[in-house]
Amino acid sequence: MDLIFATHNSHKLEEIQELVADAGIRLRSLTDIGCRDEIDEIGDTFEANATIKSSYVFQHFGLNCFADDSGLEVDALHGKPGIYSARYSGSRDPKLNLELLLERMQCQTNRKARFVSVISLVMDGETHLFRGEVEGNLATECAGVAGFGYDPIFIPNGYAYTFAEMSLADKNRISHRSKALAQLFQFLKSRA
Ligand code: IMP
Repeated sequence: MDLIFATHNSHKLEEIQELVADAGIRLRSLTDIGCRDEIDEIGDTFEANATIKSSYVFQHFGLNCFADDSGLEVDALHGKPGIYSARYSGSRDPKLNLELLLERMQCQTNRKARFVSVISLVMDGETHLFRGEVEGNLATECAGVAGFGYDPIFIPNGYAYTFAEMSLADKNRISHRSKALAQLFQFLKSRA
C-alpha cells in the first residue's frame, strides 16, 4: 500500500521508515509527491495540528495520507512546550529550544515530562486519530548525541540514560511515535 507521510522532517521520516519496513507499506514523503508547501500548524492541540496536515494533502493531492504532531509536555511548566515544542524559544533551532527549557527548569524539583505523538490518518476522506505517549524525567544537563530535539535531556521511565544515548532501534521500542504508529498499523491491517 502506498501512503504519504506529510512531513519535511528527515529525522522523523528516517525513524518511521525503519518501523514500516516489513509492514507492506511504501511510504512517500511530501518531497516525493512534489509538495514543497509549509503547512501552517495553527491548531491548539496535537490532534488539530496533525489533522491540518493530513487533510491538506488529501485535499490538494487526492492521496491517502497520515501526518503526526508531537512534542514534549512538562508537568512543572503546565504542559509546555507541548504543541510549541518545535519553536519554543521563538526559533526553530533545537539547541536554543533545549537551552530555554533547561533554563526554565533550573529551580524545578518536579522533572516529570512526557513525549506525545498524535497521528492523523485521512483515508478515503475519513479522519482517524492515534495517540502514543512515553513518560519520563528531564535531566539537568544534556547527554548523548543520537536523535534530535529534546532527546539529550529526556530520560524515559525505567532507564538511567537519555533518548540521545540510545540507539534508534532501542528508542523505537518505547517511543511515543512508535506507540502511535503501532495503532496506525493495526488499523491499516484491519482494513487490508
Ligand atoms: P512537530 O515536528 O511539529 O511534530 O514538532 C515536534 C517537536 O517536538 C520537534 O521539533 C522536537 O522539538 C519535539 N519532539 C517530538 N518528538 C521528539 C523526539 O522523539 N525526540 C526529541 N524531540 C521530539
